[in-house]
Amino acid sequence: MGTEQRALFIIFGGTGDLAKRKLYPSLFNLYRKGFLNENFAVIGTARRPWTDEYFQKVVTDAINSEDALAEDATQFASHFYYQSHNVNDTEHYITLRNLADKLDRKYEIGGNRMFYLAMSPRFFGTIAEHLKSQKIVTSEGYNRVIVEKPFGRDFASATELNDAIGRYFPEKDVFRIDHYLGKEMVQNILAVRFGNNLFRALWNNRYIDNIQITLSEALGVEERAGYYETAGALRDMVQNHILQIVALLTMNMPASYSEEDIRREKIYALKSLKKYTPAQVQANFIRAQYTAANGQRGYREEEKIASDSATETFVAGKLFVDNENFSGVPIYVRTGKRLSQKRSRIDIAFKTMPTNIFAPQPLGQNVLTINIEPEGKIFLQINVKQVGQGFTLKKSHLDFFPTSNGKQVFPEAYEKLFADALAGDATNFTHWEEVAYSWKFVDAIRTAWDQHDYALEEYPCGSMGPVAADKLLARDGHKWFYTGQEH
Ligand code: NAD
Repeated sequence: MGTEQRALFIIFGGTGDLAKRKLYPSLFNLYRKGFLNENFAVIGTARRPWTDEYFQKVVTDAINSEDALAEDATQFASHFYYQSHNVNDTEHYITLRNLADKLDRKYEIGGNRMFYLAMSPRFFGTIAEHLKSQKIVTSEGYNRVIVEKPFGRDFASATELNDAIGRYFPEKDVFRIDHYLGKEMVQNILAVRFGNNLFRALWNNRYIDNIQITLSEALGVEERAGYYETAGALRDMVQNHILQIVALLTMNMPASYSEEDIRREKIYALKSLKKYTPAQVQANFIRAQYTAANGQRGYREEEKIASDSATETFVAGKLFVDNENFSGVPIYVRTGKRLSQKRSRIDIAFKTMPTNIFAPQPLGQNVLTINIEPEGKIFLQINVKQVGQGFTLKKSHLDFFPTSNGKQVFPEAYEKLFADALAGDATNFTHWEEVAYSWKFVDAIRTAWDQHDYALEEYPCGSMGPVAADKLLARDGHKWFYTGQEH
């Protein structure tokens, strides 16, 4: 059971897709696990004129509880209240404050407030301002703001957004979500790196040959066309999830496992990303768009997508973190839509033995693979002797595949992140400086693409991207370990 928390949640965008798919089910799990008990309430706000009863039904439907849990679910949903609200209307904030104060007294919450901004970032500034000016923030408890991605579309707009929130909420109270940081296997990166002397000793440019990160999606643009057209894969996936993984993989050892120390080292790693000139962007980054194949239509034929759209649905790149331990180690990254499988995976390839006493038998490369999803798994490829007479080498691997009663059940990322935010622990949320350095890196690529007519490659739906993404590695004598065929 978790430590019970007292909190009033105010969810802006309470009728939205994210709230229904992720936030309500995650809060319910925390409720069932004892993190939330009686002293909590949730106000959902959005434009639609819903009643509390209707909202509570939406919430119980969203958590999709089985019969055995129905009573729990009804009890849980009774803590939910709905307030119709237009974020630009000052009057509405007064009604919201009155409801918040009433619920605070009713549930004896003690003034702790969590403001979850699950709506378009263009509203964040006005919401933050009104929360302060209409005194919805309290003086007796904490006041934390959780904000969703995208956090800006470049460094300039992210700075503007950050300033708009920062005028009313100090950095320590701003929890920027990158849901990858709530994933079990992403959190395992630090456990593996800093909990094992074996890996600590080898985790540097003397022993690591190259790193590969793949975040592939099988889905196409689906119903997010409007947003995606203005974003593209680089902004949507590289600036946040991929660079966060890069930071965890390349940061120096923190002084302790604490928010302050971990974030400091992550910031330093992101600051050390090698910035590319336009010519280097052309040589090291590839953008591409999916085309019709395997019964699926191409990106330009999707609804609400311009027939001459130049938005990239795939990006692959080679980057470097120029710190003491990683300078010179190529980090290959790729992400895209309509690829052959949905998979998030990291491969860390170690250098081969300097000499091979078994020659002419070849030695396989040691590769540590951290599979984030669909299944959470870590495996390490090693060379062993084949059982029997003689001395024949074969490749094998050591496995870690955590299960409970034969099944792999991890808490949903949002559930873990909610629990952290309730505990006031921002370790797994991105600090402003992490966001800022990530955008500066991404801006250099985006600007080069915008100012020069570098190729926009094509790839058929169901493939693993354009041939150019394979050539990027082949040029260095490497290949992607993940081929898109694995089960
Ligand atoms: P959505 O369009 O489904 O919901 C938006 C919500 O905002 C709705 O509740 C709507 O009523 C409300 N809203 C819009 N304008 C308003 C106004 N003027 N006043 C009051 N309420 C208003 O969007 P979503 O998919 O839930 O996403 C919300 C945010 O989370 C976005 O910033 C999105 O980028 C981010 N996000 C979503 C997902 C996801 O899986 N859906 C994943 C990552 C990030």
